[in-house]
Amino acid sequence: MIDTQPQRTTAVQNPYEPQLATIEKIIEETWDTKTFRAVFNDEAYRESFTYEPGQFQEVSVFGVGEATFCLTSSSTRKGFIEFSVKKVGSVTEALHDLSEGEVVGIRAPLGNWFPYNEWKGKNLLFIGGGIGMAPMRSLLNFCLDTRADYGDITTIYGARTPGDLCYGYEYEDWGTKGKLYLTVDAADENWKDHVGHVPGYLKEIAPKPDNTIAITCGPPIMIKFALIELANLGFTD
Ligand SMILES: Cc1cc2nc3c(=O)[nH]c(=O)nc-3n(C[C@H](O)[C@H](O)[C@H](O)COP(=O)(O)OP(=O)(O)OC[C@H]3O[C@@H](n4cnc5c(N)ncnc54)[C@H](O)[C@@H]3O)c2cc1C
Repeated sequence: MIDTQPQRTTAVQNPYEPQLATIEKIIEETWDTKTFRAVFNDEAYRESFTYEPGQFQEVSVFGVGEATFCLTSSSTRKGFIEFSVKKVGSVTEALHDLSEGEVVGIRAPLGNWFPYNEWKGKNLLFIGGGIGMAPMRSLLNFCLDTRADYGDITTIYGARTPGDLCYGYEYEDWGTKGKLYLTVDAADENWKDHVGHVPGYLKEIAPKPDNTIAITCGPPIMIKFALIELANLGFTD
């Protein structure tokens, strides 16, 4: 097979040297997760920086340490990068304590990426749970921004409660340019959508496997049962 994937083009002179970046915007996604929009301070670096959906970065909070986060933004949207941070320990707590205008160190882009070029002309089915939506958001927005390259783009996204769902400000876009199905394990009085686990909802929605690529990320238990449902629906490796 011919490798149609682009090569990473960002000139990383020293992969161990963090680039300074200013936190331009902080979005409170849930009680324990914030999304940070960062802008590289060096203009030339900022202009030349590019990345692929699925890649990650190392973010350092000076005096505290460095931690790994997916790039949740899409390289189709220029001038900034975004990452979502669930507060679990020392670096993530320090990040949550930052204010807009403060500076972090970023080493990026790192790691592999989704083979989206091989998926052109196919339907895409995103199955996400909780913070697992973070790496898929980059790919989803990339594919929605290059909409003509793909068939149907369907997203099934779930979390424990409505308050645990991230990226609510993008649902209109996801549901207009594609199809969006939301579910929660436990509803509150305002919840109008589906209630139940993601794999059960996948079974109900029953997407067709023909010419369709399924992409999933979330808690291991969700992935385990989502894969069983996908196999039942006729999806193959
Ligand atoms: C490729 C990749 C991509 C990732 N992408 C994301 C992302 O997009 N968003 C995101 O939120 N996270 C992501 N992560 C996870 C993220 O890197 C970690 O949550 C982060 O490194 C935690 O750093 P910390 O310093 O805040 O936590 P730490 O202080 O290192 O603590 C981490 C965990 O260890 C526990 N712990 C700490 N000290 C002890 C101890 N002495 N004894 C027992 N337990 C202890 C903490 O309670 C916590 O649960 C990703 C990880 C990888 C590998």
